[in-house]
Amino acid sequence: MRTADEYRASLRDGRVVYYEGQRVRDVTAHPALRVAVDHAALDYEMAADPRHRALAVVPRPGGGEMSRYFAIPRTAEDLLARMDLIEAGTRAGGTIVPLLKEIGTDALFALHLIGHDLDRARGTRYLDRIGAFYAHCRDNDLAMAVAQTDVKGDRGAGPSEQAHPDYYVRMVEERSDGIVVRGAKVHTSVSMNANELIVLPTRALGEGDRAYAVAFAVPVATRGLTLAVSPYGGHTASSFEHPLSARHRMTETLTVFDDVFVPRDRVFLQGEWDYAGPLARTFVEFHRFTAVSYKLPLVDLLTGAAQLIAQYNGIERAGHIRDKITWLVAYARTLRALTRMAALSCYQGALGIAVPDPGTINIAKLHFATQFHDAIARVQEIAGGLLVTAPGQADWEQPALRPLIERYLGGKGVGAEARLRLLHLISDVTTSALGGYHAVLAIHAEGSIEAEKLTIYRTAPLDKYVALAKELAGIAD
Ligand SMILES: Cc1cc2nc3c(=O)[nH]c(=O)nc-3n(C[C@H](O)[C@H](O)[C@H](O)COP(=O)(O)OP(=O)(O)OC[C@H]3O[C@@H](n4cnc5c(N)ncnc54)[C@H](O)[C@@H]3O)c2cc1C
Repeated sequence: MRTADEYRASLRDGRVVYYEGQRVRDVTAHPALRVAVDHAALDYEMAADPRHRALAVVPRPGGGEMSRYFAIPRTAEDLLARMDLIEAGTRAGGTIVPLLKEIGTDALFALHLIGHDLDRARGTRYLDRIGAFYAHCRDNDLAMAVAQTDVKGDRGAGPSEQAHPDYYVRMVEERSDGIVVRGAKVHTSVSMNANELIVLPTRALGEGDRAYAVAFAVPVATRGLTLAVSPYGGHTASSFEHPLSARHRMTETLTVFDDVFVPRDRVFLQGEWDYAGPLARTFVEFHRFTAVSYKLPLVDLLTGAAQLIAQYNGIERAGHIRDKITWLVAYARTLRALTRMAALSCYQGALGIAVPDPGTINIAKLHFATQFHDAIARVQEIAGGLLVTAPGQADWEQPALRPLIERYLGGKGVGAEARLRLLHLISDVTTSALGGYHAVLAIHAEGSIEAEKLTIYRTAPLDKYVALAKELAGIAD
């Protein structure tokens, strides 16, 4: 397994990355991007840390060790251990998931399932390629990003109906030794600091969309691949004012494929348009399980911080505060219960792979996403306006001001410093660029709210409910 420094060194490979209009030759040395690299390196640090080793490292088939992320889940217990690891990583990451292996292995599990089905139905040999690529990532302990979301243009039209043929990534040439792809994906997390980029279709396709039915993997430093990193959240901040976002950050890219050649052994779907939808969906079921697992530290933090600031402000016994805290506790505990339930009610897919229960996992994600803004409103209401008006680090360090701040900004049984630190923590997670990022991430990342509802409806045991209604109404079949 690699060390965090070996991971960092692997990113100095000539990749084409732009940030704020400038080409970045070394992402590990750039003052803003380095924060995201160091944050993601947590995945490697945890594997070497005796406190996390038992959770983060497992025996590798055939000898040696590997990251638990690569362990293909076979049982509910495997999924629960994966959930615990994702939660521990995100807690160490100050509410931001490291994601270097989480999302990539979600894609690899889905590729195994769909490759297996495709090979059986069509006599193709995709599973051999997928297995070889999986072993390459596992044995070299690689970091992976997943580019699924296309730029999409007109959302009301399919890929081949667009005014512009490249609004979805497509094959522009099929050769005996591989394919050439063109187009752009968007919102691609951790691509700037991953080793491999796994590309999946984003939606179900029709027969006329054959060229868009494509899945593959390329190293990030591949000719023709350009990454434009979003500047969002990119301020270098004081750790007093921004205790989380000064040290932790995840970046997304506009990911452009300008006639990128993909060798044959890295092509995992080539024109089988009727398998694009199943592949997109199967990835998302694993990925929503990852998502709700990494939301747990965030909702626990919101609840804990709300209770603590209520105590510091002397309002913890007020009826409306207890009501809001009770709501937050129920919000956090329901999410945890649903996440565990999705693992416990998993089903056994092909190749013995345990798949989290799709209905439950989508209900978990919907519960989190639709109530997140309400949770933030409650925390902000309890905390008060100092969230956006409190003195900052420079004021605290100014000798003339500090005694005044200490004198006037204490709370109930607590000094000004602890109260300010807590207020800045709440502000960072609810009002700063990180707060805004969390708010949009909650709604859109891992699929929009409507996508979750579609799966909940599709998997609902409606026959069972209807049968009960008929039985109690005395309606014969
Ligand atoms: C922080 C962050 C990180 C992300 N990381 C990744 C990543 O690593 N890899 C990746 O592939 N993706 C990633 N995503 C993308 C994420 O999955 C998408 O944001 C999500 O699927 C929504 O797509 P969109 O942003 O293009 O919004 P849109 O699809 O434009 O959705 C906007 C609204 O339009 C509605 N809508 C869209 N199409 C239709 C339609 N046909 N009919 C009716 N309503 C419609 C939606 O329901 C929604 O309300 C990330 C997103 C975020 C915010």
